This record gives sequence, structure tokens and C-alpha cells, in this order.
Amino acid sequence: MNRDVAQKSVPLNSSRSRIHGLRLSLSKHRADALLVTHLPNIRYVCGFSGSAAILLVESSRAILFTDSRYTLQAREEVHDASVVIARHGLLRALGEMLQTGRRRGRLRLGYAPAQLTVAQKDALQSIAGARVRWVPAPNEVERLRAVKDASELILMREAAHLISDVWTAALRHIKPGVSELAVAAELERAMKLRGASGPSFDTIVASGPRSAWPHAQPTPKLLKKNELVVLDQGAILRGYCSDMTRTVFLGRAAGRVRELYSAVLEAQQAAKAAIRPGAKASDVDSAARKVLRRHGLVRYFTHSTGHGLGIEVHEVPRLGAAEETLLEEGMVITVEPGVYIEGLGGIRIEDDVVVTAQGAQDLTTASRDFLEL
Ligand code: ZN
Ligand code: ZN
Repeated sequence: MNRDVAQKSVPLNSSRSRIHGLRLSLSKHRADALLVTHLPNIRYVCGFSGSAAILLVESSRAILFTDSRYTLQAREEVHDASVVIARHGLLRALGEMLQTGRRRGRLRLGYAPAQLTVAQKDALQSIAGARVRWVPAPNEVERLRAVKDASELILMREAAHLISDVWTAALRHIKPGVSELAVAAELERAMKLRGASGPSFDTIVASGPRSAWPHAQPTPKLLKKNELVVLDQGAILRGYCSDMTRTVFLGRAAGRVRELYSAVLEAQQAAKAAIRPGAKASDVDSAARKVLRRHGLVRYFTHSTGHGLGIEVHEVPRLGAAEETLLEEGMVITVEPGVYIEGLGGIRIEDDVVVTAQGAQDLTTASRDFLEL
């Protein structure tokens, strides 16, 4: 299919059911309207990808407020909402609409407490005054976003293939004498050359003792022989993220390093095997931890096993020890156990998978064999 056609048809087909899904949460909170201020949520619901917007969703209409920089872009992108170009600030335009809305009496307005700042709420309150009754309605869009529709899965599969290709192509740059920053630059360059709009987070290249820092940023440090190198990379392709980690060794690894690597890979396989619709997110985490405990390594696994992935690189659900969320078909999650040993280094293997009726299906395809470069 022609790329332009594909790009336009994706939000058009799916956003109707998204806005419908969001409206179902109005009655749950006994709200007359929902305020959406988090930009990735706005993009998901009505297609708008600009950097200044507020979306108001009512039972019979939806209104996107943006400013005059985005007049043309909004016309091109927005579906299922009318657009108001605010001349004197988005909050003022929204506040005036809330104040003069068609409804009589008070308006019960749902909002996400983690996403509306106190300053924004105060500004709206000062304009709309006593008309508005604030109703906390957290995570409504996030809940919808967790389960991907068919059009999203196509994009996420492509974003995952892209990062797998990037990894394979960039392998030749991972060698002694090259800096961590230079390797990160090559990875990000390869993403853009393959059509990604950019990395989905700052690429991690961590070598030697620094590989024991799970979220190390690349530095001018040169890669050296006999070091572990953890590379965590992701790309955004047409709005959707991928996120993949591989760990390599420069030179011939000692038996201990090989054992660590195969324990992490075994933990990852066990976590993937625990994934199915209806499984608890915490069960996936404990499946990985159980393997590492058997190898005496569980104390070195210091983060959760994975996270949801989509328009943002970290979405719900989190695959952590206390996470009660039940997995559903269509969720896309990462599976990324690791061990981090001070002085020796770190090993992490991360893939993106989709939850299917048959279990986890890998989206990232790069080889997980232990590589000695
Ligand atoms: Zn990652
Ligand atoms: Zn991740």
C-alpha cells in the first residue's frame, strides 16, 4: 500500500472507536465531559500530533483547542473533533467555553490528576468559576491505549523490524577504540536512514564497568577489549516506538560471563512463556525472577521485567512484582530481565512482544545468541 494512504487511513479508521471507548468512561465517573491534556493521549484519540493542544470530550461532541501555528496541521490530522484555534491561550479558550457551555447548572468535568497541573487547573477555575465540578478520572485513555488495534500492531511490528535491522547494520561499529557516543550516534543515524523520525529514548551504550548501570547514558569512553557492552535502542516509526536491548562481549568471554548471559536469556524465555491473555503482569515478572533466583542471581536483577510500549516508550502495564493488571490480547510489552554486577558489568536482553491468544509473539527479531565481537 502507498505509504501516504496508509498514514492517513490509520487514524481515520480507528479513532472513531477510540473516542467512543473514551465516552464510555463518562458514565463511569458520572462526568459530563473529559479533559485530555497529555499530548500522546490527544494523538491517540483524535490524531493530532502538534505540541500544544487540549481536547475536551463530551457525549455528543469533541473539541480540540490548539493555536495558530497548527491551523493547517490540525486540518490535516484531526478526526472526530472540531478544532478551535485559540487566539489568547488554550486555557482561556477552554475556560470560556466551559463557562458559556450549552448546559445549565454545574458541569462535571473529568480530568487526569497526574496530567493537569495545579496552575492549569487554577487558571481554568478562575475563568469557568463555579460552573465546573472537578471529577478525578485517571488513566482512562491509557487503559484504552494499552490494547493495540490492528492498525497499531502493523506500525509496531514495522517499528520493531526497523530496530532489529538497525542493530544488525550497526554491529560493525561495535569494536574496541570506538566511543560509546559514536556507537550511539551510528545507531540513531541508522534509525533515521531507515525512515524513523528519531530514537524513542536516548540510546544507551554502556561498556565495561558502566554496563552495570541499567540506565547509563553514553559517554566519550572508548570501548575496550574484554568488556561487556549493553546497547538499548528504540526508534519511533510513524508515531510508534520500539525498544530493544542486546548485550555483546568484545573478545573471548570467560565461562562466568557466558553463564550469566545464558541465565538472563533463560529468564527472558521463562517470562515470555508466562505471557498469555488473563495472566497477571506480576506473574511474568516472577517467572523471570524465579530463573535468576535458581542461578543465585536474583539480587542483581534490580528493575521490573518490562513495560507497555506504544505511542510512548513506557506505557501501562508495568511488568513488576506488585502489578495486578491482567494481560489482554493485543497488548504490546517489553520483556527485559537483566543482571548488573558491580565491577564485572551488566547483561540485559530485551524484546518487544505482542500478547496473542497463543501467548507472546516476538516483534523484535534480532538474534539473541551470545555475540563475541
Ligand atoms: Zn530498552
Ligand atoms: Zn524497555
